[in-house]
Amino acid sequence: MYSKLLWDRGLTEGTGGNVSMRQDDSVFITPTSMIKHFLTDEDIVELATDGTKVAGKYNPSSEYKMHIFLYQNNPDVNVVVHAHPPYATAAAVAGRELPVNMLPESALLLTPITYIPYQMPGSQGFADAFINGIEKGSNVFLLGNHGVTVTGKTMTEAFARIETLEFLSRVSFLTGAEPGTMEIPDDQIQAWLATLK
Ligand SMILES: [Zn+2]
Repeated sequence: MYSKLLWDRGLTEGTGGNVSMRQDDSVFITPTSMIKHFLTDEDIVELATDGTKVAGKYNPSSEYKMHIFLYQNNPDVNVVVHAHPPYATAAAVAGRELPVNMLPESALLLTPITYIPYQMPGSQGFADAFINGIEKGSNVFLLGNHGVTVTGKTMTEAFARIETLEFLSRVSFLTGAEPGTMEIPDDQIQAWLATLK
């Protein structure tokens, strides 16, 4: 189960982080206040696509509104993963942009990254910042003073994104690289991406 992987891989701490998946008219989401390592299938909460609870013995993650909002505003998204991985969260807290073209995988999976300065969750400013990112085609959101949210068509895609995001954050921290330094030239990235289409 992917939410267990999130915890076991050190991508989130304590009871932090939450994972959801959209299937037809339902959204299945991890419950609030549980350590992801111990989750079982029966703990998952089913919501309608407007966020009302349909089934489950627990309440949904307190961040369920962000998940619902992302599904409602991006029809291509079927999976939302939110977590607090240490290096990517450090970049978000420090307001440091990442050299996304430093590694081929990060250029492929993360471009473009949306940086959202701290705003109260649930506020209009927070929602607007997500909308701006979605309009740019972003699937990766760094949330200032909080953590990260990634989206994907499939669980594998979303999970690859959060792993790659944390890896890029770690390597850029270890090398001290900033955007514009140690990156693969953009024309080479574009030429490579073209070969994958
Ligand atoms: Zn969080």
